[in-house]
Amino acid sequence: MPDDVSLANGARVLADLNALRAIGAYKTGVHKPTFSEPHKQSLEWLAEKLPEAGLSATIDGIGNVFGASAKPGLKLLAGSHLESQNHAGWLDGPLGVVYALEAARVINSDPAQRGSVEVVSWCDEEGHFGHFLGSRSYVGGVSEADIDAARDRTSGRSMREALRDIGLAGRARVTAEPGRHVGYFEAHIEQGETLESSRLAVGVVTSIVGIWQYRINFTGEQNHAGTTRMAVRKDAGLALARFCVAIDARFPAACGPRTVWTTGRITLDPGAPSIIPGGAEMLFQIRDDDPAVIARLEDLLRTMASEVNAQGPCQVALERIRTGAPAMMHPAFQDAIEAASRAHADGRSIRMPSGAGHDAQTLATIMPAAMLFVPSIGGVSHHWTENTADADIVTGAQVFVDACRRILSA
Ligand SMILES: [Zn+2]
Repeated sequence: MPDDVSLANGARVLADLNALRAIGAYKTGVHKPTFSEPHKQSLEWLAEKLPEAGLSATIDGIGNVFGASAKPGLKLLAGSHLESQNHAGWLDGPLGVVYALEAARVINSDPAQRGSVEVVSWCDEEGHFGHFLGSRSYVGGVSEADIDAARDRTSGRSMREALRDIGLAGRARVTAEPGRHVGYFEAHIEQGETLESSRLAVGVVTSIVGIWQYRINFTGEQNHAGTTRMAVRKDAGLALARFCVAIDARFPAACGPRTVWTTGRITLDPGAPSIIPGGAEMLFQIRDDDPAVIARLEDLLRTMASEVNAQGPCQVALERIRTGAPAMMHPAFQDAIEAASRAHADGRSIRMPSGAGHDAQTLATIMPAAMLFVPSIGGVSHHWTENTADADIVTGAQVFVDACRRILSA
C-alpha cells in the first residue's frame, strides 16, 4: 500500500497472513493444532521470514520462535501465536505475529528510529497440551516434569513424543533475559463485537480479566422417580437448577459493568430418567478485571449457599477451584496505542478489557505489556468463519507499527 517506507505495508501484511492461511487450510480458516505438520510448517515459515526484518531466528525446545535483533539499544518484544484451535479461524494468532514481523521490518531498518522490535511466536496459546505453555516457559513457569506430563487433549499424544516428531526434542528452551526488553506488545482479533458494533477500528486493551472457577455440589437423596411423592423428595438436580436461576437474578445487583458468569457443566448423579438425583454438581466461572468485584460475588455465592443449607431439603457445598489475578496493561503503552490510533485510524479507538486470555497476561508478570484489538466480523472466533475486513487489518497494522515507534521513542 504505502510508498512511505516508514509505515506498514498493508499489501505485504495481507500477503503474509494469506500465506499462513494456506498452510493447513480448512474451508476459509485453518486446522493447525499445536505440533501438527501445518503448525511446524508455519513455525518454519516465520523462521525463514525473520531475516527480512534483520532478526536471527531460533525455534526453541518448546516450539517458541524468536527473532533476535543485533541492533543496539532498546528492544520491544512483539508477537502472538501460530497454532489454531481445531478447525478454526485464520487470524487468531497469526495476526499478532504478522503485525510484529511487519513492525520489525519497518522499524529495524530505519536508522532514524531508536531501538528495535524483536518478534516472538508463543507455542500452544490455544492450550492443546497445556495452558499458555510457550509464554509460561519463557517466564520460567514450566518445569521439565510439566512437559513430561503434558498430553494433546484431542489425540492423547504425549508432548515429548510430539516434540520428537517435529524435531524439537532436546533443544534448549529460551527464557527471558532480564532487562533486554522495554516491554511486550501483542495484537489480536477482538473475538467479540464491541468494536464492530460501534464502528471502531482499534481496541486499546486495559486489562486481561481474571478467571475464578467454582465447583458447587448439591446433596439430596436418591430415590425411585415413580413411587416417591413430590412432597418428600430431596432432588439435588432441582436444587441446582434453582441455584442457577437465583444467581442470574441476584448477581446483576452486585457485579461490575463487564462481569460475566457461566455455568459450564452440570452433572446429575446418577443421571437416569427414573431416578431422583441424589447428587448434582455444577462448574461455575466468573470473569472480571476487578478483584473487589469478584470478592463481592464470591461472598454473595456463599450467602446464597448458606440460605439453601438453612432452608433444605438439599445441602450445598461451594469449592473454589481456580483463581486468576487480572493482568493490567501498561498505562503508557495504552497511551501510545491511542495516539497511534489518532494518527492512523481517525481516533476510532476505545479502551476495553479483554474477556479472553492471551499470552500478554503471562508476559505482564515480568515486564510492561500491552495489547491492541482489531474488529472481528460478527464477533466470531474459534470457528473457521472467523474474519476481519482487509481494510481493518491494514489500519490495525499502521496503528501497531506507529505504536511500536512511540513506545521505543518514549
Ligand atoms: Zn489467540
